[in-house]
Amino acid sequence: MQKKIMKRGKRPELMWGLGLTDELERQITESVGPGFHLRNFPADALPGARELDQEEKPATTWIPWSVWSDLGEHRREQYREQESTQRVLIQEEGDDALEMDRVLGEGFLTVVRAPLTRPKVQDVLFRAKEVTSMYSDIYRMTEEIMLERELLARKTDQLLFLNKILASATESLDPSTILLNAKETLGLVLPVRMLNAVFWSNQAESEVADVEIFLNGKMTPETEGLWVEHLLASAADMGSGPVNGFHILHTDPKRRPEYGLKPGDGKLVTMPLTAGHQTFGCLALLCESGYRLGKDQVETFRSAVNHLGLALRNAMVFKEVKLRADRDGLTRIYNRHSFDERLVYEIKRRRRYNHDLSLLMVDLDHFKQVNDTYGHQAGDMVLRKVGEILTDTFRTTDLPARYGGEEFVVLLPHTSEKAAWKLAERVRGAIENTRFSYDGHDFAVTASIGVASVEAGALTRDDDLIVKADKALYAAKHNGRNMVVISKPQMAQAMLL
Ligand code: GH3
Ligand code: MG
Ligand code: MG
Repeated sequence: MQKKIMKRGKRPELMWGLGLTDELERQITESVGPGFHLRNFPADALPGARELDQEEKPATTWIPWSVWSDLGEHRREQYREQESTQRVLIQEEGDDALEMDRVLGEGFLTVVRAPLTRPKVQDVLFRAKEVTSMYSDIYRMTEEIMLERELLARKTDQLLFLNKILASATESLDPSTILLNAKETLGLVLPVRMLNAVFWSNQAESEVADVEIFLNGKMTPETEGLWVEHLLASAADMGSGPVNGFHILHTDPKRRPEYGLKPGDGKLVTMPLTAGHQTFGCLALLCESGYRLGKDQVETFRSAVNHLGLALRNAMVFKEVKLRADRDGLTRIYNRHSFDERLVYEIKRRRRYNHDLSLLMVDLDHFKQVNDTYGHQAGDMVLRKVGEILTDTFRTTDLPARYGGEEFVVLLPHTSEKAAWKLAERVRGAIENTRFSYDGHDFAVTASIGVASVEAGALTRDDDLIVKADKALYAAKHNGRNMVVISKPQMAQAMLL
């Protein structure tokens, strides 16, 4: 539909005549006055494709029935397709009577009978003007509806996007997974190449913050250094306070070439993460440069990041709570509760797959004396250090835990008695060789270790693994301490007697 509004300006309005007789041309021109210009095409030179396409379209086209009825169907179709003009059919004396239905069917606005008097012509022009302005109203409304639809489609996209963010952020309680999902989802709106993050938690008593840094993938030490520097600077800007120490985790451990990207390799957007009124972290998004978001998209993006912030906050709190529940407060290694749970699990697994399973029971020798001689604080320091030695000695699948007091256990899946004995010796040696110093006093401690194993294919019952390790430990104490003793079947028997 062609937009055309009748102008009553200086420029006269264009009308066409198709093969009007001189008489009809004169009647029309006299009736309309100076505001209109009538261009009449002779019947043998009617406008063709070139004229129909020209810029200025006639508001009204006058066509005598005799001319119209002589046109071929193709020609008529061409005129009918010219939507911007109102066609008026002129019926002259001698023409057959015309049915209104037929006139309208041919796409005419109306039919007037010659001679064309001033009232008739003006009436036609008035109606033509009305119809044209109705057309332009409809055109404008259609345009508005289309615009509205576009906006709605955009809103729908944004809602879908928010929904995706929410769903993927609440799918997991693991910050790494949430961040990895977020990179994918935010990528629907922004060309995100990397998403790194930093979180800080201020210790209540001291003013220093513990900081966790999440990087999108493994990178060269140089690149990693640049990101860590950027993230720590952002954290300081956003009020983390002085940083105690930081810990780096990789959200996507698979190394890919693009992970060589540095903070300067694109547009870097740093967004704070807040929960309540507290800023606890920020996201650093590395996007392709030269990309701009619309105003509404920025809003959507902000609320997406807010949602993410809440999900990440939850995940961090969950992690902290879980850590507290699973770990011993003093040594930060697993506590007895976690060990008991894991023992049940490993014994079940052993029954199923029939692999080796070993257990070490470690007890510090004459520990009471350490407390009595150097003080309880010194004793605590020793326990923390022994926790570190245990953590450093074993694989991640092994489980060192504090069993209680100055007693530790280490559960070793897939480990034979012989291998367990070697590990126990290594731990015993490491403890013995550690120099402790407290309040100006240097001292050493030793440990006794009992080892118990159920080996693949062995038919021994494994439920009393703890009892057996405990007996072996007792034997170690009994035989002079600072030694490793392996549980023997007859030993458990002998002890029971
Ligand atoms: P043994 O060689 O026979 O094991 O002698 P021991 O002194 O180590 O054994 P005992 O069971 O008599 O004493 C254990 C001591 O460990 C007593 C207790 O004060 C100390 N202890 C237990 N838990 C803690 C702790 O959390 N911190 C400190 N500092 N000492 C602890
Ligand atoms: Mg002891
Ligand atoms: Mg003890």
